[in-house]
Order: sequence, then C-alpha cells, then structure tokens
Amino acid sequence: MTLYFEGASHLSTHAFNFDCQSCGACCAYFRVSFYWSETDAHPEGAVPQSMTKAISLHQVAMLGTTQKPERCVALAGELGQAVRCTIYEKRSSTCQAFAMGTEACLQARKSYGL
Ligand code: SF4
Ligand code: SF4
Repeated sequence: MTLYFEGASHLSTHAFNFDCQSCGACCAYFRVSFYWSETDAHPEGAVPQSMTKAISLHQVAMLGTTQKPERCVALAGELGQAVRCTIYEKRSSTCQAFAMGTEACLQARKSYGL
C-alpha cells in the first residue's frame, strides 16, 4: 500500500520548528489520498467516509483536496493564522505520516507565503 501526499517529497528533512496550528498549508495544498479501508466504511477504519470521495477502485481522497484550490474539508480555521484538523484523532495514515520540516512541508508553506 502506497500512501502519500501527491507531488510531495519526503526525502529530506530540515531542522525547522514550525507551529502547525498556525499554518495548515499542507492541508490546503496536496491531494490527500489513502486506501479506502482507512475510512469508517471498514470495521477497522476511522476516517469519516462522508469526508472522502473515491478516486479509484481502492483509493479515496479527502474531500476538498481533489480540486483547485485544494482545502481539506476537515481543516478548520484560517490558513497561516490558526487552524486545526477537526478529525485529528481519526485522520488517515497519510496525514499522520506527513512530517513538518520536509521538502513537502516547505513547498506547501511557500505556496502560501509562509
Ligand atoms: S505545511 Fe508544515 S508547518 Fe504547515 S501545517 Fe503542514 S507540516 Fe505543519
Ligand atoms: S484530515 Fe486533517 S490533517 Fe489530514 S489533510 Fe485534512 S485537515 Fe489536514
């Protein structure tokens, strides 16, 4: 199973220490996709299926992240000011794996002038 923020590179990590709760750029930049069984349509899934859409036979994406401009439906608040994930405890492995300070993080932040 391959889980990733599309277009993102997690190859290098830098010694940055950003405050994600005053950022949110990655949640409004990448298509956030993952295997459908991570949704609550599966007995062991947690991500609300109602917040996802099917993008292939086995993959779903967070609503709002397959359009332009992207913004995950689960993201609350104002980008670059104060944000929070409304399904934080139930977020996908893709979101859990996304690391602050990576090239992908910097790429998302740069797109919003952060
Ligand atoms: S882009 Fe980076 S700093 Fe901003 S919320 Fe995502 S991981 Fe945190
Ligand atoms: S589910 Fe939460 S952490 Fe994942 S992209 Fe959406 S707002 Fe961000």
